Amino acid sequence: MRVNCSREVEVRGTYDVVVAGSGPAGICAAVAAAREGAKVALVERYGVVGGNLTVGYVGPILGMVAKGTMRDELVELLGVEENDMIGRTGRAHDFERAKRVLAQFVAHPNIDVYLQSSVCDVVKEGDALRGVVLATNEGQIALLGKVTVDATGDGLVAYLAGAPTEKGRDDGLMQPVTLEFTIAGVDEKQGVICIGDVDDVRLGEERFLDFCKRCADEGKLPQKLAAVRLHPTVREGERQVNTTQVNGVDMTRVEHIFKADLELREQIALLEQFLRENLPGYGECRCIASGATTGVRETRRVMGDYVITAEELAVGCRFDDVIVHKAEFIVDIHNPAGAGQAEEHIQYCDPYDLPYRCFTPRGVENLYVAGRCISGTHRAHASYRVMSICMAMGEAVGIASAMCAEQGCSPRTLDVKALQQRMADKGIDLFSK
Ligand SMILES: Cc1cc2nc3c(=O)[nH]c(=O)nc-3n(C[C@H](O)[C@H](O)[C@H](O)COP(=O)(O)OP(=O)(O)OC[C@H]3O[C@@H](n4cnc5c(N)ncnc54)[C@H](O)[C@@H]3O)c2cc1C
Repeated sequence: MRVNCSREVEVRGTYDVVVAGSGPAGICAAVAAAREGAKVALVERYGVVGGNLTVGYVGPILGMVAKGTMRDELVELLGVEENDMIGRTGRAHDFERAKRVLAQFVAHPNIDVYLQSSVCDVVKEGDALRGVVLATNEGQIALLGKVTVDATGDGLVAYLAGAPTEKGRDDGLMQPVTLEFTIAGVDEKQGVICIGDVDDVRLGEERFLDFCKRCADEGKLPQKLAAVRLHPTVREGERQVNTTQVNGVDMTRVEHIFKADLELREQIALLEQFLRENLPGYGECRCIASGATTGVRETRRVMGDYVITAEELAVGCRFDDVIVHKAEFIVDIHNPAGAGQAEEHIQYCDPYDLPYRCFTPRGVENLYVAGRCISGTHRAHASYRVMSICMAMGEAVGIASAMCAEQGCSPRTLDVKALQQRMADKGIDLFSK
């Protein structure tokens, strides 16, 4: 059954740049465009900015990019020391501090922030995107923009605008969803830290992850929770636990969302008990907080003028139209069909470039994507999706959007060399060896 709901919608604002989504990519896109002098709208469906940096409860900030980007500024704002590329030395940031400092970060005179406002439709004329429609507490309103940046993670704006999208690997399965949580009360003298499969930390004579696997075989832990990841945080005695998981969830389908949340919160209770009863130093630990929303690793990837592959990332690909330089992270595929990692061997990548063409969705004008939904394959996405890299993407696209608005051109006709020069003038390294 279908109903026709078409109605006229009030245009609440007209902008140079409309940024949808305020995660690591969106906040950087909005601030970068605003600092270039553009009039910007930043739209967020939740009541706080930050995406996975805040409500998603994801940390530490992993990955690396070349020097001079907004990523360096944000790491400093959030008060975290430099992580190594995969976070071996990394600590999860303080999520409460993040809510405050990221709000200050986007509180720029050129930015109007629309919180608790969900993009639910787009305004189009032919192939040209003119703006977005928001579902708000006042009903629907429209924001028009010369350029729109889709930083929703889910590629929702691009999808609604008709750009081609893909989800998951060939069988359609995507990486599992996870709800991260924090435990306090860990005895630092005994309490192990384990950041995942790349970590060989031991518990006595045994590799910690083998110990967890053995516990799962003995029925002390569900098999799918055997990859116990315990990151340190900026506070003594705390661990950021990235271990819960539900497979077979498609977070672009509304009927999947509550079922996942229900199961994930049950898993938090199970894990808390497992840690208390089985891990030295964890006997007094308790869960003190968790994400306000399910952590989503993977949904739509928006197909653009170039589709980057993991094979290119592995060898440290270079492009003439580079806008993110020396991005670095492993291809980290949490198993879409079960526990642990999807592949037997982790794929390491040489520092790689992301080209401008991965940010311009096919078939739509006036639109960029930034963040985890850019144009790449399922395996490539598993690397560039980490937050350092998403921040650098957002900044690059924010500067580009402001240039398009100023010059009255579409992303597809922007002079990329001029963009690179503008980025270099700001101290962003795009070409070092
Ligand atoms: C469980 C888990 C663990 C992870 N671990 C790490 C880690 O340790 N380190 C790391 O660096 N990365 C990690 N990642 C990856 C990383 O967090 C994400 O890939 C990254 O945050 C993507 O950034 P983004 O800006 O594209 O999207 P997001 O951070 O998802 O932000 C998107 C924003 O858009 C908003 N939005 C969505 N739809 C709409 C709409 N219709 N209208 C308005 N707003 C909308 C969302 O509310 C959100 O604020 C992890 C991810 C998950 C899920």
